[in-house]
Amino acid sequence: MRGKQVIVLEARDRVGGRVQSSWVDGQLVESGAQWLSPGNEQMHELVREAGAELVGPQEGSLLIRSQGSVVRSQQSSGRGRSLSPFETADLGQGVARFRRLAQRISSDPTWAAANQTWLAQPLSRWIKTNLRTPAAQHDFSSALSTVLGALSSDIALGAALKAGESGVDLESLFTVSGGLKLRRVVGGMHQLTEHLADQVGDRLQLKTTVTGIEQSADTVIVHTAAGDQIEARFALVTMPPWLALQLDYLPQLPKWRYDTLARTTPGAAIKAVVIYETPWWRESGLSGQMSADEGTIRTTFDVTDPGGPGVLTGMLGGSEAVKMSRLGSEARERALINSLAAVFGPIARQDHKYLDHDWLADPFTQGCHTPHFSPGIWSMSGQLLAEPDGRVHFAGAEYAAKFNGYLEGALRSGREEAKAIARRLGSDSP
Ligand SMILES: Cc1cc2nc3c(=O)[nH]c(=O)nc-3n(C[C@H](O)[C@H](O)[C@H](O)COP(=O)(O)OP(=O)(O)OC[C@H]3O[C@@H](n4cnc5c(N)ncnc54)[C@H](O)[C@@H]3O)c2cc1C
Repeated sequence: MRGKQVIVLEARDRVGGRVQSSWVDGQLVESGAQWLSPGNEQMHELVREAGAELVGPQEGSLLIRSQGSVVRSQQSSGRGRSLSPFETADLGQGVARFRRLAQRISSDPTWAAANQTWLAQPLSRWIKTNLRTPAAQHDFSSALSTVLGALSSDIALGAALKAGESGVDLESLFTVSGGLKLRRVVGGMHQLTEHLADQVGDRLQLKTTVTGIEQSADTVIVHTAAGDQIEARFALVTMPPWLALQLDYLPQLPKWRYDTLARTTPGAAIKAVVIYETPWWRESGLSGQMSADEGTIRTTFDVTDPGGPGVLTGMLGGSEAVKMSRLGSEARERALINSLAAVFGPIARQDHKYLDHDWLADPFTQGCHTPHFSPGIWSMSGQLLAEPDGRVHFAGAEYAAKFNGYLEGALRSGREEAKAIARRLGSDSP
């Protein structure tokens, strides 16, 4: 804050937003953001600053359910080192390219027919041409082999793309079995957001819902649901764009902001957690990670704390989340246990506790976890969303130029806009 007077207005009765912890019979449950990847430099710095510790994913085999049968696969992270940020980015762009091609081959048969010869090339050759670093090529190849049950040199690109489109959650295979080494904060991510809130002290007002912002040449007046008005020189709106544009602005924000948002889908996510007496999957050498091409839950991770009960977490996303959002938590629990049993066997039906959080139904989030910009929108005007409108600035995960949609993006964007306001305060005479 560096000598500037700041007041933070937060609608919920807690800080953290999409970082959310709760306790079920003393067991920590994280219903929001939980993982950090190696390139998340500012988040890692925050971990150090807050004196927190990180833990990697559980070692062991992962289970893949594809077209009705379950295969067991060794994790390929055993080469003992994380990818560098450059290798991580390389792997990320390779996955995105592969995903785009897989979608094209299924949605555009004319294109597929016209490119038959090119699609007949070995997958291994495509990997070498499209990924630059040997480490990313290696991880891409081994994670894909896990899904395909074949080595990348033995299979044609076209066949791999068809299998890649079958619904198995490739991204999570790449991120965990592919060696991206995601890590989570021991004791919960909320420690980091609370550490940040401590720095704001009593300038933080919880349970204060902002309803509108009025601006003049010199000031902004922020209106709250309780009818309070707070006057300031600048306002920084840190709500996701689809909520930020629901506020009443005077004068109104330009039309292009609303047009851009209309072509952006917030995404739907329900994060579910199942707590068992013990992490029973570890006894048979399993990591608790699975990926499936059907079922309510397509991916799970073991987030058991040392010495604690066994905890598996997974996410319902997209249309499945929208459908299950209407059915309620009990129906989701039944569906999720069925999905787990289809992969891990009847053992998954044993006594457990269940908790989930529906981010679509949450009034102060209304969607998540990453926005989907329609083609061309991000490059056309998406980045402009981060531009201030007069004395009103915008920040948050969805405004970030890098790590858009993630904690690292939210932190970077918030810091950049806070600095931009501080600079303007320096040269601003009311
Ligand atoms: C289930 C799930 C899993 C995720 N997993 C990961 C992960 O593993 N790693 C990762 O990096 N990211 C993950 N994310 C994404 C990550 O949580 C977000 O990118 C990040 O938390 C967004 O931070 P933010 O500050 O931009 O927005 P938010 O966290 O949404 O903060 C916005 C704040 O505005 C408040 N607010 C809303 N409306 C009002 C109002 N009218 N008045 C006052 N206050 C208001 C909200 O209460 C909230 O505190 C996940 C998200 C979800 C939902």
